[in-house]
This record gives sequence, C-alpha cells and structure tokens, in this order.
Amino acid sequence: MTLLDGKAVSAEIRSELARRSGEFAARYGRRPSLAVLLIGNDPASEIYTRNKIKGCEEAGIRSLSYRLPGDTPQQDVLELIRALAGDDGVDGILVQLPLPAHLDAARLLCEIPPEKDVDGFSSQNMGALALGKEGIAACTPRGVMELLSRYKISADGKHAVVIGRSNTVGRPMALLLLNANATVTVCHSHTRDLKEECLRADILIAAVGKPKFVTADMVKEGAVVVDVGMDRDERGKLCGDVDFENVKDKVSYITPVPGGVGPMTVAMLLENTLQAAERRMR
Ligand code: NAP
Repeated sequence: MTLLDGKAVSAEIRSELARRSGEFAARYGRRPSLAVLLIGNDPASEIYTRNKIKGCEEAGIRSLSYRLPGDTPQQDVLELIRALAGDDGVDGILVQLPLPAHLDAARLLCEIPPEKDVDGFSSQNMGALALGKEGIAACTPRGVMELLSRYKISADGKHAVVIGRSNTVGRPMALLLLNANATVTVCHSHTRDLKEECLRADILIAAVGKPKFVTADMVKEGAVVVDVGMDRDERGKLCGDVDFENVKDKVSYITPVPGGVGPMTVAMLLENTLQAAERRMR
C-alpha cells in the first residue's frame, strides 16, 4: 500500500506557485490577489480561512481578508462582493461557506464573476465542467485529481465510484473523473446496494461526511481509495469517511486523514487564483 501524501504534494505545489507568482509580479508589477470573506464566527470556517490566508502567504499571493459580523445584512454583503468584482486589483473572490442562515448563499455567489470564482461553485463554472469545457473547477475535487496525477494514477478506462453528490464535492468530482475518461458511478443516500457498487470500484472516492463509513468489506483488493471526509470519531478525534486502519492493507493507494485531500484543497484554491490572475492579465 502506498500513502497518497497530500501534505507533501501540496508543499511541492505551493513552492511551484511561489515561483510562478514571482514571475507574475515581475511581469505585471503586482502580485496575484485573493479576497476572502468570512461572515460570522463559525469555528471550523475560521480555521479553514486561516489556512487559506496562510497558504496565500506561502505561495506569494496577496490576500485581502474581510471579516464581517454574523448579522451583516444581505445587501451589505452583496455590495462588498460587487465592489470586489469591479476591482481590477482583485483576481479571486472566495466567500467562506456555510453562511449565517439569514443570508442567501446562492444569490450572493451569483454576484461573483465566473473569472474570479476561484471556488468554482458558480453555475457558469459548474456548467463548463458539465460540458467538459475549460472553466474553474471546485478546489477539493480538483485537488483529488491533482493528487492522483502526481502519483501517476490514471482514471482513463477505470471504474470510479464516488459516494456523495453534493454540489461542492461529489458532483464536480464525478464530472472531473468522467472528463478524465473514467466510467463513473455516483452513489448517494438512495443507492440500493452501496457495498455492491463500491466493490466494483478501481478508484473509490468517499465524500459522505460520516466517520469510518467505508469499511474493508466494501473495498476491492488493490483499489485506489481517496477519503475526502473530515469527520470526528467517537472520541472527538479528526478522522475520515474511510475506516483507514482496516482498509489500508487491502488497497494499492490510500489517502490519510488528516494529510490527504485537505491540504490539496488549499493548494488548488491557490492554483485557481493564480490561473485566474494569469487569464485576466492575458
Ligand atoms: P454533504 O453535502 O453532506 O453530502 C454528503 C453526501 O453523502 C450526500 O450526497 C448524501 O446523499 C451522501 N450520503 C449520506 N449518507 C449516505 C449513505 N448512508 N449512503 C450513501 N450516501 C450517503 O457533504 P459534503 O459537503 O459533500 O462533504 C462530505 C465530506 O467531505 C464531509 O466530511 C466534509 O467535511 C468533507 N469535506 C472535506 C473537504 C476537504 O478539503 N478535505 C472539503 C469539503 C468537504 P444525498 O445527496 O442523497 O443526501
């Protein structure tokens, strides 16, 4: 079994990005920049945004951090996004989800122009992905594809099974695998025989949000297993959707949690930002 080491790969990517950001700055007289909006004080969101801002520093990307109180009216957030959308010095806009309940996330995300939508959640970018065209792909699924590629694992002709169909992970993940010529099965809470579906996977992606949900009897011998989950076990310790200890000896490759997909998500946000900056300046 080989560990898919997202932490090491993301460090490599960040140093490549730092070099490219330096070239960008030398050419255009400014660094690529990312505006990060955090509304309210959800503790997990605070950690995620902190990691993203730290990642920007390491990759030579200027981060503009906007912290708004949890009761900020929709109109105020809308106006801020519009101002950032029209600001030539801003290459990427990220609104940290989830938002407080009184805010209409879909409406707000629509205000981010597709070329600055570095999370890839807008209908234009999701549509481009669905049509197999160039756009900005969501960071977590893109991170999974990059991790596979760095370990020279091709999806071409393989049977890939994705558990989960959320708009942020499962759905774009399935589309990226399809665009990479895998035969894709998408499973969800209505799937009749989940174990049977999973056992056919050459590449199994778990994005369920349930601790240690994927057990050894659901995994084919020699499969590649990617665990997107960020869950807490019964003792409150961070774990994934895969029962790592019991699955690891059966597979050819597997991601750990932490240190697998998580760091790749941040690396792809930075990559999306730099690419957005390069495209805009071109
Ligand atoms: P989500 O929106 O809650 O979606 C979960 C998906 O799992 C849904 O499609 C759901 O099906 C499916 N599901 C739930 N129970 C199931 C069951 N018993 N059998 C089969 N499918 C089932 O979650 P998400 O946002 O996609 O996130 C999934 C996990 O990834 C979470 O642990 C999250 O924390 C983690 N995550 C990690 C990163 C990272 O950077 N590592 C980034 C984002 C998310 P239905 O659609 O039928 O309800």
